[in-house]
Amino acid sequence: MSDGKRGTLATIVAQDSALGQAASAVDQLSAHLPVAGRPAACPLCRAYPWPCPRFVDAAARIHAAGIGLHELIPVDLHPALWPEPDHR
Ligand SMILES: [Zn+2]
Repeated sequence: MSDGKRGTLATIVAQDSALGQAASAVDQLSAHLPVAGRPAACPLCRAYPWPCPRFVDAAARIHAAGIGLHELIPVDLHPALWPEPDHR
């Protein structure tokens, strides 16, 4: 997208599924994703570098629900969260 904002969409899941139980955390996680091209800045938490505390809190709640984070985070942000091991 030309303004750097990430596209989002709504989906429907069963409320009593693992993802349904973590839905508010998924919403919070997605709201605190950096815009494209600015991987170190949360668009909502200007006082903190990314990953900001509200992102980390949401990620912890999603992880505790047994849901993988990789599938919820755009690939371009993966290196910031999961740096490749140094193979030198
Ligand atoms: Zn934030």
